[in-house]
Amino acid sequence: MDSKKVLEDLKRRFPNEPEYHQAVEEVLSTIEDAYNQHPEFDKVNLIERLCIPDRIYQFRVTWMDDKGNIQTNMGYRVQHNNAIGPYKGGIRFHKSVNLGILKFLAFEQTFKNSLTTLPMGGAKGGSDFSPRGKSNAEVMRFCQAFMLELARHIGPDLDVPAGDIGVGGREVGFMFGAYKKYTHQFQGVLTGKGLEYGGSLIRPEATGYGNVYFLCEMLKTRGIELKGKSVLISGAGNVAQYTAEKVLQLGGKVLTMSDSDGYIYDPDGIDREKLDYIFDLKQVQRGRIKEYVDQYPTAKYVEGKKPWFEKADIALPSATQNEINEEAAKALVANGVIAVSEGANMPSTPEAIKVFQQAKILYSPGKAANAGGVSVSGLEMSQNSERLSWTKEEVDARLHTIMETIHANCVKYGTEPDGYINYVKGANVAGFMKVAKAMMAQGVF
Ligand code: NDP
Repeated sequence: MDSKKVLEDLKRRFPNEPEYHQAVEEVLSTIEDAYNQHPEFDKVNLIERLCIPDRIYQFRVTWMDDKGNIQTNMGYRVQHNNAIGPYKGGIRFHKSVNLGILKFLAFEQTFKNSLTTLPMGGAKGGSDFSPRGKSNAEVMRFCQAFMLELARHIGPDLDVPAGDIGVGGREVGFMFGAYKKYTHQFQGVLTGKGLEYGGSLIRPEATGYGNVYFLCEMLKTRGIELKGKSVLISGAGNVAQYTAEKVLQLGGKVLTMSDSDGYIYDPDGIDREKLDYIFDLKQVQRGRIKEYVDQYPTAKYVEGKKPWFEKADIALPSATQNEINEEAAKALVANGVIAVSEGANMPSTPEAIKVFQQAKILYSPGKAANAGGVSVSGLEMSQNSERLSWTKEEVDARLHTIMETIHANCVKYGTEPDGYINYVKGANVAGFMKVAKAMMAQGVF
């Protein structure tokens, strides 16, 4: 494989999809050596078949707002690869959603799901609909309209969506209800469901908890503990909230959280009581993070900026893609950060990743560090198939083991001659090999 040529070809065939190109480039540049040790891969053009999604559904979603106006949005489902299991990946509702972003997420998901040790292929979907500022009734009507089309393309053994940005328990509930009504089937077709109708304990916590478990494994390689360390977190959604909770439980100090309008910095740390306020603010009131400083005036709110220029030991980006650029990465390193572990998908630009790796700090990409979310989704599928529910302790223990295994695989495939662990390479090679071998075994399609 000539990775440059493969990438140029993809850019020519699929222009205007920069995030997709970025994700593919990162993977190709790190797996090239491992790939080229298997000439049989190239004989069947495995790389192109792995980069281009199996199929993409694109549809119009028509729904009525509270004023009786008819609105349209775009809906998508990218089924990237099902070599190792049914398609699996979240649904994103955000105004920035377009096909290129969902193709990048589905591509990443394929490698991430492979890393989890569970049998799941990769997919992603969503809409340019934003739940922000919409009433409950509007969100419900939108979810029903979205599922009216999506329902024919998914199924418990075919494709199992979950949440992502803008899709939490409320949206999953509305979509599950719609699927059930349209198909006359009660099936484990979505994960992230409520506990009353087939959801798993620890699923809401899983991505954030998993990222902190992974962080602790990374710190262990240098004999460092999380206890007493200061932490910058971006985002204030599902991943950020439970990341903060686990950091607190393990004795760290959370200094920041954010949303797309700005960030809050609390020099005294966001403690349990303050975090409970944020849970309520975001999950119940559906408010904005700046309201935190009305409640806790010793904190500051910085409008229109990201938290990466504050001094801390650890950074856990948990909002969105490309939220840490080169300048922010340099500021983090200059301020003495020892570890960056990604809760979000692709939050660091390629230039930022270079800065972290050249400084030899601990840096793990989202596809390894945030794989806890989809792992517990996989465990939710197992419980649905068994018609049983596991205890919180059991699910948490399995999550912990999975994160340790992912870390061990990154070390196995990513340790460089000087001993530095290149987690990007480790995650990509480990994730790729399993999918590649499964594709080889199944013939050419
Ligand atoms: P939520 O919608 O619950 O929260 C997203 C948070 O990020 C909000 O605070 C939101 O602010 C902020 N945000 C969204 N877009 C932007 C932007 N363009 N600039 C700055 N801030 C932004 O989503 P999740 O917590 O579920 O997801 C966060 C990240 O984690 C995403 O990258 C997602 O793909 C990834 N992830 C999520 C998993 C899960 O299980 N949920 C699993 C694995 C990865 P605002 O309210 O202003 O939009």
